[in-house]
Amino acid sequence: MTILQERISTRLGASPLDRAVDQANIKSDLRLPSESRVRLIVIGSVFLVAVICLAAKLLYPYTFLGNPAPASLLHWLLPRLKKLVSGWSLASMICYPMLMLAILLLERIIPAVPTQKTFGTGFVYDALWELMTAVTAIIIAKWYSVLLYTIYLRYLHFLTPAFTASIPELLRLVLAVALLDFVRWFQHLLQHKVKWLWPFHAVHHAQREMNLFSSERLHIVDVMVAVTFGLLFLLTAGLNVPTVVWWFMIATWHGRLYHANIKSDFGPLRYLIVTPQSHRIHHSKRREHYDANYGGMFSVWDYLFGTQIRDYEIYPESGIDDENFPVETTQSVAGVLATFAREMLYPFQSLWASRKRRADAEKTPGKIAAK
Ligand SMILES: [Zn+2]
Ligand SMILES: [Zn+2]
Repeated sequence: MTILQERISTRLGASPLDRAVDQANIKSDLRLPSESRVRLIVIGSVFLVAVICLAAKLLYPYTFLGNPAPASLLHWLLPRLKKLVSGWSLASMICYPMLMLAILLLERIIPAVPTQKTFGTGFVYDALWELMTAVTAIIIAKWYSVLLYTIYLRYLHFLTPAFTASIPELLRLVLAVALLDFVRWFQHLLQHKVKWLWPFHAVHHAQREMNLFSSERLHIVDVMVAVTFGLLFLLTAGLNVPTVVWWFMIATWHGRLYHANIKSDFGPLRYLIVTPQSHRIHHSKRREHYDANYGGMFSVWDYLFGTQIRDYEIYPESGIDDENFPVETTQSVAGVLATFAREMLYPFQSLWASRKRRADAEKTPGKIAAK
């Protein structure tokens, strides 16, 4: 007999008022605690999010480089849907969620932080960030890409060297992937070094429970920076975005893998590609790990430019050293959304506060000098 059944049977002789109170108590016992409710909603949405993100990634390139003036929405949508459910696209629709499951499995088998829950607080917040990134990629980044594309065609097309067209397709792709990764490395370096870019990138670094969604924990300004660098490079190289869409897919999955709670340095492969261990150092809270391991897919750039930390044993605590960053809790749905909104505002507040500090320092130079 369950506790609830026991409670009902012992109270059968009670007054109607007492029974009503009992009924209310039973109902509240059956209700899940708010934290579990939030977690349940998020876990239930994970595969939906995975499929949405995948669809966005597959369709996104075609939304601005294919047919700029479609006759009708249906005319525009049908060939793309056909493409989406054919050949490797269909295979990737099935494979991608499976590969995400593989990451979750690795987190259980070889966790970097064994005490971290698979579906903990960090997972809940980063799933929300993932959803936000997917939505912004479709809405804002798409229009921003169209703008960049138009500006490039009108004023900057001379930057595309004529000889790129004569390079064989396969060689062009290999070169493009390597150079695009270097551009990504350089853009990442700027996100850390340029003062007004760092607060936006700090949102990505603030996660203390790294998980498979942390790679897409990106502020919209951070996304715009990535789109600017990536798209300008592709246009300069004379490549269409759809040509390298498969690379985006692999890069996204690899990003999820090395952001997850996995203990591995990939053995000798670490000299070629970014690993969960090397990227955890990049997310480290420790000052001696700042400004290192910037690699996106390949680690060769870090070895080449001396920004690689060659300690392959440590898995330091991740996060940022700023007590003003909103504390992430999963008390309630409203609480999660409120904290999430504060995180979106954090970079602007942080920039405003440092501007104010600088202005105060200029007003009272004597005081600062004395300090
Ligand atoms: Zn970074
Ligand atoms: Zn990262």
